[in-house]
Formats: sequence, C-alpha cells, structure tokens
Amino acid sequence: MKPAEPRHAAPADAETRRAVAPVICYPPDTLPQPDMARYRAAQDGMVAAGAVTVPPRGAACFRVRAGQLFRITCTEGAQVGDLNLWAADDLSERFYAGKTRALHGTHLSTGDRLWSAFPHMRPMATIIDDSLDWYGFDADGGSVHDVIGTRCDPYTGRVLSGTDYHHCCHSNLTRALAAATGLSLAEAEHHVHDVLNVFMCTGFNRDTGQYFMKASPVRPGDYLDFMAEIDLLGALSACPGGDCGAEHSSDTASCHPLLVQVFDPAPGSMEGWAPPARNAYGGGHGASG
Ligand SMILES: [Zn+2]
Repeated sequence: MKPAEPRHAAPADAETRRAVAPVICYPPDTLPQPDMARYRAAQDGMVAAGAVTVPPRGAACFRVRAGQLFRITCTEGAQVGDLNLWAADDLSERFYAGKTRALHGTHLSTGDRLWSAFPHMRPMATIIDDSLDWYGFDADGGSVHDVIGTRCDPYTGRVLSGTDYHHCCHSNLTRALAAATGLSLAEAEHHVHDVLNVFMCTGFNRDTGQYFMKASPVRPGDYLDFMAEIDLLGALSACPGGDCGAEHSSDTASCHPLLVQVFDPAPGSMEGWAPPARNAYGGGHGASG
C-alpha cells in the first residue's frame, strides 16, 4: 500500500506528471478473435456428455476434449468456484491468470479467452456465455469472474492467523489433481496455479488499492459457459468462503456445491475447426550461440 504520509515531498510538476493519459498496455485490435458465431451454433444444439458435482469445501477434476463445451453452474446457493486448467497431455501447459488479465482486463466475460503459460501461450478455452454479464462493474468497482486474486491457501492462512486449515481452494485443487492423475500430493501441488475466480465478486479499493471481495450476486441457475480450445484437464474448487461475503479459509461460511457439465457441440457445428497451435515464438531469447 502507498504510505498515508509519504516521506518524500511531491515535485513541483507532480500534477503534470500524474495527468499523463493512460495507454492500454495490450490493445486487443490484433488479438486473434474467436469465431463466436460458430461457438454459438455449437452451443445451440449441444448434447450432454458428462457431469461432475463439486462438493462444498472440496474440488473435482473433469476432462473436456477440444471442441467440446463445459458449463459451471450454481445449483443450490450462492457459491464461488476456483478454476484451474491444464492441457490434458501436459500439465506444464497451465492457465496463466496474469497474462489473461493483461489481455482481457481484471474480470472476464463472454468472448474472453483463458490463455496458457509460456512457452505455450495460446487460448485454452473461450467464454461463450455468462448469465452474470448484466452485473458489469458496481459502485465499488467490483465485478465477477476475476483474474486478480490468487486462490485461498493454507500458507497465507498460517501467516495471518497462525492456524492450519485444510480445505482452502489450493488444498482442494491439490487433492483433486492428485486423485485424477495418480501424482502424490507434493507433486500435484506444484501444478496448482492462480485461478479464474468463477462467480466471485472482487475489486480493488479505489483509495488504497487493496483487494476486496463482497457477497457474490450469483444465484442458483446462474452459469458460465466455455468452449474448450484444446484438450483440457480442469479442476474446480467450491471455495470455503461460500459466496465470499464475509471470510474464507475457515468453516464459518455457508457453502454449496457447484456443477460442471461437459457437452458435445451441435452435430456438424465444429466441422473444419482445429485447436490453436502452440505459440510460434521460436524460443531463442536472443542467444547467439
Ligand atoms: Zn477459495
């Protein structure tokens, strides 16, 4: 946080320096655009292909093939979900929340894509529908589906409260990935990464820049739909914070399950479509030898 009382006096031209116009870091003009018309056609006639229920204060893994769709639904009560994605055949290709944030902004919605980490850096999934897209940004600057948080975890909990809590999203995702892959907990933990905070309502305080959360506006029946751009292994945790209106990293909040459904696209709708190739950068990094 910035100090309330800076040690250094502002220079004479401080206001001039502050008044410089911001520039969007990554103008989206040259970003490859998803074929939303095709994806909507795929969604219109999609056929159920499987489902998994994520238990409260737990997590579950699911697999989606490239060109299939998946939906995360709030079924029983306001609940936040923490989503991790990996390439199905290579856990080193994982969702990169930071670059996704830089490209699409702090909170995602329809048309935004979930990008994978270097050196792969390609779309892993595209959001094709969002029943909470009406929310926009509220008066506090908050919105839903953020890529600005991390995931609740037992390490931060230990630092802040001095106690151990084992059902944070980080631990839930670790257990689920270990169960799905046969990795040990210690091995699986290294693959768990910063998340898409599905349904979570968050922002930064305008005066201090601190990360805040507020009770999610999600209600039973709300959903977030994705097109899988590559073969995916996903993991979703039903956060112990419930609607994240009060606290997480404890058993205090009221928690609910989340539903993940996988769908085949409408017959014929994805004909001629191919998953995006891995990033074309050659990986030389300027080395001369
Ligand atoms: Zn959590």
